[in-house]
Amino acid sequence: MKNVELMEKIEFYINRLGQVGLKDGIRWRCAYTKEDKAAKELFKSLIENEGLLASEDAVGNVYGKLKNSIDYTDVKKILVGSHIDTVRDGGAYDGAAGIIIGLLAVSETIKKFGAPKIPIEVIALTEEEGSRYAMSYVGSRAIVNGLMENELNSVDEDGISLKTAMLLAGYDPDNVMKAKRDDIHSYFEVHIEQGPVLEKTGNKIGIIERINGIFFIEVEIIGREDHAGTTPMNMRLDSLSAASKFMAKLPEVVAEISNSATATVGKIRVEPGSSNVVPKKTIFTIDFRDMDVDKLTRMNEAIQLELNQLKHQGFKVNCNLATSELPVDLNKELINLCEVVVKDLGLPYMRMNSGAGHDAQIFAERFPASLLFIPCKDGRSHSPVEFASNEDIAIAVEVMSGILKKLAW
Ligand SMILES: [Zn+2]
Repeated sequence: MKNVELMEKIEFYINRLGQVGLKDGIRWRCAYTKEDKAAKELFKSLIENEGLLASEDAVGNVYGKLKNSIDYTDVKKILVGSHIDTVRDGGAYDGAAGIIIGLLAVSETIKKFGAPKIPIEVIALTEEEGSRYAMSYVGSRAIVNGLMENELNSVDEDGISLKTAMLLAGYDPDNVMKAKRDDIHSYFEVHIEQGPVLEKTGNKIGIIERINGIFFIEVEIIGREDHAGTTPMNMRLDSLSAASKFMAKLPEVVAEISNSATATVGKIRVEPGSSNVVPKKTIFTIDFRDMDVDKLTRMNEAIQLELNQLKHQGFKVNCNLATSELPVDLNKELINLCEVVVKDLGLPYMRMNSGAGHDAQIFAERFPASLLFIPCKDGRSHSPVEFASNEDIAIAVEVMSGILKKLAW
């Protein structure tokens, strides 16, 4: 296919998928909702349009498999894709670009070279973002390790368990282990960078060597509710005031341990949450990330030590380390293979690490996994302004096609 035609198709597919889950200008496709179902039905029709066979597994991962007469039963499969869900008020490229690149790379390569020796499957993974349930990577976890009973029992904001949501969407939660696989040769994912580095440096491809570890602490600071007008400033136990001082100091606490770490308080709730009451309770989250597991452990200790100082002032402090995902190294042979292909195409590229978590890290637990980044405008993501150009997506299709050709034909 000529580049112009490919770019037109990219634009059409991205726009079609981007329309799904848009309501009052806000895009949200999360697990086991009607928006999720609509996106999967649409992607299945795109798969069929590209001459592949569409199917779904027991947890709603969508597959595009090869339609041909070769018996691939005992051959391990190459998976290429990303996730189909979005965060609340998300963009049209996060995840979506990756599944469309995967689909077009497979269909373009087959059109040129016929059936591969190693079978390839396009995959659109269910619920990577964890925007409905606290658990991320539902689809890839189901494939790599299987979903556990306690995970199925996690509940959303309305108290609906993952299990019930699955049932309501037409999946049988008793069957989730059927999604688990052992027959995977390798997993490839292309994703928008979600940061500004590629654009700023003029690189078209980022080859990911390592995915950051992510730690996540839930904090509760409990003071005392008092009248906002009659309680003197020096007689209060204002939990929000204490939390604010801690938050202002957080960058310093983290920087003392690592200059590459990030730390973010992204969610905060105050109780009773009334304009004329001193806040009794402040509940917030701390997301912190780094490449080095020792530093993450030390940051966790330093943060909790800092928070526990508040006990001397009379506050109660509860800290819960809710997530501790360790840094993940991606497969070195696949990194080298990607580099050879990108160099052959004469593209400007760089090796880099990923500050965001991706399905590739889940696959990497058991299978060779690879992750590539493409530039996105101003590094913006998890926002409706998210954008990647058709040209850059077309380049990624060409790169992925080159990788698949080297590996599977
Ligand atoms: Zn994503």
